[in-house]
Amino acid sequence: MANLRFEAVEEAFRKRPLEVSTPKERPGEFYGKYVFNRTKMYKYLPVDIYQKLVDVIDNGARLDRSIADAVAQGMKKWAEENGATHYTHWFQPLTEGTAEKHDAFVEHDGKGGMMEEFSGKLLVQQEPDASSFPNGGIRNTFEARGYSAWDPTSPVFIIDDTLCIPTIFISYTGEALDYKAPLLKALHAVNVAATKVCHYFYPEVRQVHSNLGWEQEYFLVDEDLYFARPDLMLTGRTLMGHDSAKNQQMDDHYFGTIPERVQAFMKDLEIQALELGIPCKTRHNEVAPGQFELAPIFEECNLAVDHNMLLMSLMKKIAHKHSFRVLLHEKPFDGINGSGKHNNWSLCTDNGILLHAAGKTPADNLRFVVFIVETLMAVYRHNGLLKASVMSATNDHRLGANEAPPAIISSFLGRQISDLLDHIEKADKDNLFNLSGKTGMQLDIPEIPELFIDNTDRNRTSPFAFTGNRFEFRAVGSEANCAAAMIVLNTAVAEALTDFAERVDTLTAKGEEQTSAIIDILREDIEACKPIRFDGNGYSDEWKEEAARRGLDCEPSCPVCFDRYLDRESIRMFEQMNVMSHNELEARNEVKWETYTKKIQIEARVMGDLAMNHIIPVATHYQSQLAKNVQNMVDIFGDVEGKQLSERNIKIIREIAERTNIIESGVEELVNARKYANRIEDQRKKAVAYHDTVAPKMEAIRYQIDKLELIVSDELWTLPKYRELLFIR
Ligand code: ADP
Ligand code: MG
Repeated sequence: MANLRFEAVEEAFRKRPLEVSTPKERPGEFYGKYVFNRTKMYKYLPVDIYQKLVDVIDNGARLDRSIADAVAQGMKKWAEENGATHYTHWFQPLTEGTAEKHDAFVEHDGKGGMMEEFSGKLLVQQEPDASSFPNGGIRNTFEARGYSAWDPTSPVFIIDDTLCIPTIFISYTGEALDYKAPLLKALHAVNVAATKVCHYFYPEVRQVHSNLGWEQEYFLVDEDLYFARPDLMLTGRTLMGHDSAKNQQMDDHYFGTIPERVQAFMKDLEIQALELGIPCKTRHNEVAPGQFELAPIFEECNLAVDHNMLLMSLMKKIAHKHSFRVLLHEKPFDGINGSGKHNNWSLCTDNGILLHAAGKTPADNLRFVVFIVETLMAVYRHNGLLKASVMSATNDHRLGANEAPPAIISSFLGRQISDLLDHIEKADKDNLFNLSGKTGMQLDIPEIPELFIDNTDRNRTSPFAFTGNRFEFRAVGSEANCAAAMIVLNTAVAEALTDFAERVDTLTAKGEEQTSAIIDILREDIEACKPIRFDGNGYSDEWKEEAARRGLDCEPSCPVCFDRYLDRESIRMFEQMNVMSHNELEARNEVKWETYTKKIQIEARVMGDLAMNHIIPVATHYQSQLAKNVQNMVDIFGDVEGKQLSERNIKIIREIAERTNIIESGVEELVNARKYANRIEDQRKKAVAYHDTVAPKMEAIRYQIDKLELIVSDELWTLPKYRELLFIR
């Protein structure tokens, strides 16, 4: 029997790191080389057009067609100088990836030849035939029209020979069919609400934007080994595989020396990412063997989301070049850590005040406390929804398993901030705040030193931790589009801030002094959002009970979690903040349920196929070898002694028979469960059936397969083992 596994292992062993040539320029010089950024806009556009475009980008001014034509001309010139022959609208449909359809610049010139054309119309709008993108029924196929529209706030860039134009993707009736459209609306909502609250403290603030710094975790496996694992190829994770004897228990991978082939991959990736304007900063080994992390410097949220999407596709391409496969699945291997994408988030004003950072004056610190507390209010009110925003069939393996953030959203603040909030809540208000004649306000809010949370005060078990000048949302999945989480978070914070301002204004309208009114409302909210604050161990069973008592969302089932999008409070929030309509929310949930079902369905099929066509044949093959051996022993030593001497083999023969029987009937049950679930029409019910009846059956089959892996001769086993997948690179 030819064994692909051993060929793959041999191939993998032979590989050497690729030579990656370092650009002659310093990173600062090639950073953004393929991005039509402001420097290039200035160079390639007439001054008045440049100014108008900057006004569109910075202040949301209307983009009229006359600007668009001129911008398109400049862009085309720059693109041609960089070898581009095609352009594409680049958008983010609800598939967790990006989509693009390339068109060449060429048009007929009317004289039998060709000329290169790119008009403002083509820049601004396109109509991709969108019927095959997930839409949740918003567009019936007979009116399968959607269009993509340019997002001028995210600069266009060149990949290979193609000018890529970031766009939103919406239906003709205006509903969002992507992540970017609602994200832009959520960012607008939080800008409006936060700016209003800022004016209590800093009247000069004109805008507030949201920062996002993501940290991307991923695995690399050798490409030959990957191809010998149909489960990795088709589902992104190993559906079976016994633990490697050594994995992460020595803690020797984290921050360890980066293996050479990986180092070459990282170097290549970073150069190309920098050229595309992604400000890569940090790279290191992660906890699990074969696991790594890349983090850029934080950026404005919409841009950061685009850059993360771009980076993920770049990673895939460059990994292939280095004969690796990048695994972005949240849990590619059982028994070792999975991958997430920490989303570091904060708000910042146009004049540079970081609203989630403490300041130097009492007023700054009051502002700081307001933004911390209203963020907590948002997370508290919508904790179930926030969890739903990061839930998926794949991230389900990580949330709730005791390794990554737990499936209950809570927030860790650390001692100092907790004490501060307790102090404000409990202190006598007259002591806390008084107007002392001409010297103005006095606030008895303790001094907050700048670096007040040292690294030891970090709670790794918290899904939403305050880390000094930002919150870190750690439950986001490694393959997810960060926008899903950012839409919910920014909208919820917008709602909390709007509500805060309304109550403050009501008090001041009644004649209360403003700072006093702010403190009143703040104290109310500190009290109200208390249940979301939790500094203890998020993985403990006591916390699960305590969280339920506090009324936090403890639902563990992924498809049921999606219900939170259709809760009355969620719909109200999205509609009032003008981010998504009831109709859009319903359609998007259809997509979520359908995607969930499909993912489990594919896994179940692959599981059945591998069990029946790889595992059972190999196990029974080995079993016959053993049986032959027993027979030989009986021939030599006679029945009694021969069997006595073959005791071990007989035991294994029996164990293989028992386990393969269980696997076979397990696969049959799996198929039946699927058939039953497939007949369900309603998408939600179908997803729930897949979750409750199909997924658990795979666990049971896997258990038996992993036991077989331990007893079947290594020589016969066809699937690359965990130790090979994780350690050969
Ligand atoms: P960690 O210690 O959590 O691994 P890293 O330094 O690897 O931290 O990553 C932290 C991420 O958070 C980086 O992308 C960084 O730019 C980003 N970040 C830092 N400060 C802020 C902030 N105020 N708002 C948003 N993101 C931030
Ligand atoms: Mg982090």
